[in-house]
Amino acid sequence: MTKDLAAFAAENGVKYFMISFTDLFGGQRAKLVPAQAIADMQEDGAGFAGFATYLDMTPAHPDMLAVPDPDSVIQLPWKPEVAWVAANPVMEGEEVAQAPRNVLNRLITEAAGKNLRIKTGIEAEYFLLHPDGDRISDPDDIAAKPCYDQQAVMRRYDVVREICDYMLGLGWGPYQNDHEDANGQFEMNWEFDDALRTADKHSFFKFMVKSVAESHGYRATFMPKPIEGLTGNGCHAHISVWDMDGKTNVFATEEGGATPTSELGLSDQGGHFLGGIINHAIGMTAITNPTVNSYKRINAPVTSSGATWAPNTVTWSGNNRTHMVRIPGPGRFELRLPDGAVNPYLLQAVIIAAGLSGLENEADPGKRWDIDMYAAGHKARGAAKLPLNMLDALRAFNRDKELKSRMGDEFSDAFFKLKMAEWNDFASSFTAWERVHTLDI
Ligand SMILES: [Mg+2]
Repeated sequence: MTKDLAAFAAENGVKYFMISFTDLFGGQRAKLVPAQAIADMQEDGAGFAGFATYLDMTPAHPDMLAVPDPDSVIQLPWKPEVAWVAANPVMEGEEVAQAPRNVLNRLITEAAGKNLRIKTGIEAEYFLLHPDGDRISDPDDIAAKPCYDQQAVMRRYDVVREICDYMLGLGWGPYQNDHEDANGQFEMNWEFDDALRTADKHSFFKFMVKSVAESHGYRATFMPKPIEGLTGNGCHAHISVWDMDGKTNVFATEEGGATPTSELGLSDQGGHFLGGIINHAIGMTAITNPTVNSYKRINAPVTSSGATWAPNTVTWSGNNRTHMVRIPGPGRFELRLPDGAVNPYLLQAVIIAAGLSGLENEADPGKRWDIDMYAAGHKARGAAKLPLNMLDALRAFNRDKELKSRMGDEFSDAFFKLKMAEWNDFASSFTAWERVHTLDI
């Protein structure tokens, strides 16, 4: 039975609902609706001017209504009188086809038609910065290899504990928190879930981390490369596919099989799904790594810690973190390409789109590389290189006709158009680098 939001408010002391949707650039947009008005809003949705967000609409478009999905409702642990609820944009009775949560829902339905249920976990790394955003918040966090730094994580214990306590209370099953590989960087892990639930949690996690950081006088960022020379913010995704009852992992098989994937405990279906990711990797990079800054993380020179931990080539491996895809154990794989700027809904959507392509075409993931890509990447002859910048990525996306059609033509056209406009805006902006390198020519 659909959850009644008015009853939820009465039971939990909620005074306001934050009806939230995510636009094509990953921005979370919301209206605060008093609990007294939520019954009508649950039915009809909250009205927005789509043009005011990144959804490729004009000022002449009619009202866009964000219809809350009551199953997604979360009472803010740090402000319990407010509840966040993810919404699906609708216009004149039709779903807005290019809206990211709608794109994801459509692909989940398509997978369900094949008796497949995609489950994922994500690792959304973030930095705690000074409120100005130009330096890390902890001046003592200067170690050359700061990963898992015991002292540094304890200096931000109050922030990390507060967020982890909230996740415990929400039932997300958080199980570890650490200081990551860059000074000022942290990672918190919680249990994997169905793709839509993971996308909603990913969205809410970003909102929660930023809110808690602000309350402690810091600024949290998921920007792919916020500090030059340091390791960037990845958003690795762990992927498995189950049957619809959620009890049988169709990716899992006995280890030691005859193919390079089944040897590691990934079934034939898992191998084909991975093949789809490999075949569409270059086209999907515009979605997994969506900003100008994203390309400062992949393809980066070695960082001060000794490794970027980000891929630059389309390769897969066993339990080896130097490749784009790692198979850490039977029945799942880790996609290490996405970064902190990725749109939570489009991340899940593009994984499913590429994976379904692989399943339908019985795609072969190709050779398994067991080398250290950072030291011996030049040996991976024939392996495709990831795009070097956002323009290359957008052009590659535009060339991948199958991926575009699986993501939906309305989405793909809108995404390409708005992102090309963003690239052109960037390309026409002057930088300090140009002055340094050109002034005296
Ligand atoms: Mg990490």
